[in-house]
Amino acid sequence: MTDALLEVRNLAVRYGDLIGIADVSLTVPAGKVVALLGSNGAGKTTTLNAIAGLVPPAGGSVTWMGQAIGGKPAYAIVGGGLALAPEGWRLFVQQTVEQNLRLGATVLADKKRVPALLERVFSLFPRLAERRRQRAGTLSGGERQMLATGRALMSDPKLLMLDEPSLGLAPAVVESLYETLGQLRRDGLTLLLAEQAVELALEVADHAYVLQTGRTVLEGPAAQLADDRDVQRIYLGLETTAS
Ligand code: ATP
Repeated sequence: MTDALLEVRNLAVRYGDLIGIADVSLTVPAGKVVALLGSNGAGKTTTLNAIAGLVPPAGGSVTWMGQAIGGKPAYAIVGGGLALAPEGWRLFVQQTVEQNLRLGATVLADKKRVPALLERVFSLFPRLAERRRQRAGTLSGGERQMLATGRALMSDPKLLMLDEPSLGLAPAVVESLYETLGQLRRDGLTLLLAEQAVELALEVADHAYVLQTGRTVLEGPAAQLADDRDVQRIYLGLETTAS
């Protein structure tokens, strides 16, 4: 066996008669950053949601630290150390920043750890500390992404999955968010990052997988994919300025 924390093999998800994903395989080694790339509708969100237990797999397997977790409920998966900062954030907008963060810690068996985890989130995201008593509904997009990330970190995960963290955010905000992700990685956190912002994701990732219509069609070291303009044009629908 490798040092894989997470192994996904031939994962499939159906939405009634519709196919969400047909055949997705990926490996996330401990301590690495893995990017999941693909254009709109390729199946990134469905893949992360299936790993997190938010949608049931119709086929294939999800193995977390050697245990099969496919089909387990979301709370059991978070409790096992695998957290998701979802697309669209899914915050409780009437609750304060701090209340949202504390909700992320409900799966922790040892509640005495909550103050230290809260302090860690506030030191990673000082803006959240400033706004801790503000309702989540009053936050900017960038602050909401920080809060969704912070809430996932409150479960003290070994692996953090982020679904399109850069979506809709101003470039300066994205840059600062990615700096924080770099910090988390240096602290030893493993990351699985779904992104449409290909260049950005390939800058921070060690390895990347490309999804197309619900299948992993390509994988490789991030540096190699970043250099391959054909790959970007064919699979990711990006225009290239290279002549
Ligand atoms: P996006 O960037 O738009 O989130 P994505 O790569 O994350 O794209 P998914 O959202 O996972 O892709 O979508 C994969 C496929 O599943 C698409 O064909 C989509 O239309 C379909 N799909 C996603 N959610 C549902 C749903 N709740 N019901 C039916 N079909 C869905």
